Amino acid sequence: MINWGIQGTVLTDVHIKRYASMKVGGPVSFLIYPSCENDLISVLAILKNEHIKYRFIGNVTNIIVNDTGLKEALIRTTRMHCARFNKIKDSPIVDVSGGTLLKMFIKDNAQKGLAGLEKLYWIPGTVGGGIKMNAGSFGVSISDVLEGIRIVDDKGEIIAHTRKDMTFDYRISPVKDTECILSATFRFQNRDKKEIAKDMEHVYAERLKRHPMDYPSSGSIFKSVNGQSAWQFVEKAGMRGFRIGDACVSEKHTNFIINLGHAKARDIKILIDTIKKTVFEKTGVLLEEEVELWGFDE
Ligand SMILES: Cc1cc2nc3c(=O)[nH]c(=O)nc-3n(C[C@H](O)[C@H](O)[C@H](O)COP(=O)(O)OP(=O)(O)OC[C@H]3O[C@@H](n4cnc5c(N)ncnc54)[C@H](O)[C@@H]3O)c2cc1C
Repeated sequence: MINWGIQGTVLTDVHIKRYASMKVGGPVSFLIYPSCENDLISVLAILKNEHIKYRFIGNVTNIIVNDTGLKEALIRTTRMHCARFNKIKDSPIVDVSGGTLLKMFIKDNAQKGLAGLEKLYWIPGTVGGGIKMNAGSFGVSISDVLEGIRIVDDKGEIIAHTRKDMTFDYRISPVKDTECILSATFRFQNRDKKEIAKDMEHVYAERLKRHPMDYPSSGSIFKSVNGQSAWQFVEKAGMRGFRIGDACVSEKHTNFIINLGHAKARDIKILIDTIKKTVFEKTGVLLEEEVELWGFDE
């Protein structure tokens, strides 16, 4: 029996399906919610001491965990959420915890007339998950507005990085899997609140029009290929509506796999592999997953 001694919560043998946007995934040994940075550092020390493998999760909107689960701890950052507004030399700067929901953060900033991230409105992840994935939409990536991050590494040390020290690329960040983004600093621009709201409404309307929002999904399954959207290749390969069990290539957006109700993680993995194979055979293009697949190695 581990004496966690933290303010946060530790759940054991939890099915990740309940938390994942795709609504699939088996049991994990521990699901840990640190309530603050000190909690997180204590948790890391305990896990190290107990030789328990761990990974970090935010809102689980870009991860598929296998049905067999993980004999690991998942450290979920979503209880560590707060934002602090600073004004340095007339430039609005905001510090925000990594576990803050991106959607709420963007909405709060918009209400203050702070512009920069509104094109990312409605991405369902956290700030930390967004930075790790270098999430983006409508031509803007989260790293475009980023000034710096604070991370905790696997030794429990807190390290600050400025944007200048970090290289981001399309859906790629320099943050290691062993590092947790504690907080981030963004530099915004002052803009008319009504204009920002108009942009956000437009983004939301476009998402409703293009994305299958009525079904569980993990957003885009594959990365774009040399700037060309992956859905075009999936479509060309004739995979629209293709199903493995209840895992289905969305009719509305062929880079989305949707869960029609009772899909298993295994169905999704088989569907992903089938799409890759078919797309390669028909177009010569090898698609690369944007979504992360955890626990499928064995
Ligand atoms: C309907 C829908 C629409 C989507 N639209 C978009 C879109 O337009 N653009 C886009 O880019 N993505 C999109 N996504 C994918 C997803 O929302 C993003 O990748 C998001 O940034 C993931 O954040 P998360 O908190 O859910 O991360 P998770 O899925 O929990 O984790 C993703 C990765 O980030 C790591 N991670 C999470 N938190 C931290 C942290 N604090 N420190 C270090 N590492 C961390 C995890 O270890 C994992 O490697 C969409 C998903 C859905 C379901």
